[in-house]
Amino acid sequence: MADFDTKRIRAGYNSADHNYAVNVPIYQTAAFDIGDVARGERLWTFQETGALYTRVGNPTVGVLEERLRLLEEGTGAIALASGMAAISYTFLYLAQGGGNIVVSPALYGGAEDAFSHFLPHYGVKAKFVEDRFSPESYEKAIDTDTKAIFLETISNPNAELYDIEAIAKVAHRHGIPLVVDNTVATPYLFHPFSHGVDVIIYSATKGLSGHGNAIAGAVIENNTFHFSKEKFPQFYEKSYKLKDAAGVARSPIEVSPDAPLTLAIRAFLLEFIGAAIGPFDAYLVLQGLSTISERLEKQVKTTEKIVKFLERRDEVGWVNHPSAADSPYHQLAKKYFPKGTGALLSFGFKGDREQLNTFITALSYFSYQANLGDVRSLIINSPKTTHAELNEQHLIRAGISYDTIRVSVGLESSVDLIEDLKQAFEKTFQSK
Ligand SMILES: *Cc1c(COP(=O)(O)O)cnc(C)c1O
Repeated sequence: MADFDTKRIRAGYNSADHNYAVNVPIYQTAAFDIGDVARGERLWTFQETGALYTRVGNPTVGVLEERLRLLEEGTGAIALASGMAAISYTFLYLAQGGGNIVVSPALYGGAEDAFSHFLPHYGVKAKFVEDRFSPESYEKAIDTDTKAIFLETISNPNAELYDIEAIAKVAHRHGIPLVVDNTVATPYLFHPFSHGVDVIIYSATKGLSGHGNAIAGAVIENNTFHFSKEKFPQFYEKSYKLKDAAGVARSPIEVSPDAPLTLAIRAFLLEFIGAAIGPFDAYLVLQGLSTISERLEKQVKTTEKIVKFLERRDEVGWVNHPSAADSPYHQLAKKYFPKGTGALLSFGFKGDREQLNTFITALSYFSYQANLGDVRSLIINSPKTTHAELNEQHLIRAGISYDTIRVSVGLESSVDLIEDLKQAFEKTFQSK
């Protein structure tokens, strides 16, 4: 199989299947001609895969799915309209009919909020672990109704790292899959399937596409986990939607034995709830993905320089990034992240609210906004914005202090970025 750098540009696309178009074409159409009646029946019941209706599949989206699948060395992938759709669909299906997910409390704000306030209404309960760094803590939280463990490989906003292999072992010992959100790490920096992970979720809005111009998500599976009939009966339930040629209903496991989860998400969640990614957005993600290695390599280097700069500033109380001198994650970084630990960092700002405002508005090259993983550098005060859904207790539980500022480092000159931060600190703290 080709290397990562070749696959991110070429995998899953054969120009001969697309009028020899060199760039992946945008199939901007809602529906596709079916041809004859028999083919229609085959397409409708997943006996034949092919373009039918863009809510459940589209050739541009299909290239993205295949590229992500091959990049991660998985057995199935589905692209969706957003990272939140990927998270909600995965757990609505895994805990279908009721169950709980053992989760780290240090999650993206929207995910934390979904587990705290949205998914429980649909029977999907969350059990937040007490100590997200301790595999035993995950084990303690698991009960007979637990359907999965979920955590982020690099957490947002504090860039925490966890012992993924140890947590995967806990999950597998209890017959449940380990699902990770690999958004901050991106496929370039961390390969979850090499470390016991069973399902990968992406917000492709972030570093995966990298240009802050599309909302997109994905779920990828690799068939290392066996969904038992006892714990996961939904995979074995026969559905009229999955009929075979003789008209006999089939189950997701029968239709797609090596990728039942992504098949089920497509056949049921996408079919009935419909957070489909549009072909143009899929195209933008493909475009961004083709430069992921160069982007991340430079962004990691610049991040490490900014971390060193911040560590020396009196206006900064603390710096969270695995490359920081006092970071507790040096060992985990060495083991899991040989290419670096990403372009997201947070730091403690030693000023009051007014000074925070002066600081943020004084910056020229850090956009004040909620995204991350963009080519532009971004800055935000997380507790009041991206994690504003969390009440004080939940903020404490997630390790987010009131003075937290999150920085997502882009591709500008590191000299300009550091100079920009320096002048903003000087302006803020000399004016008082
Ligand atoms: C942004 C983000 C999400 C949600 O993704 P959307 O594409 O905005 O729906 C999920 N997880 C992480 C870590 C994120 O940063």
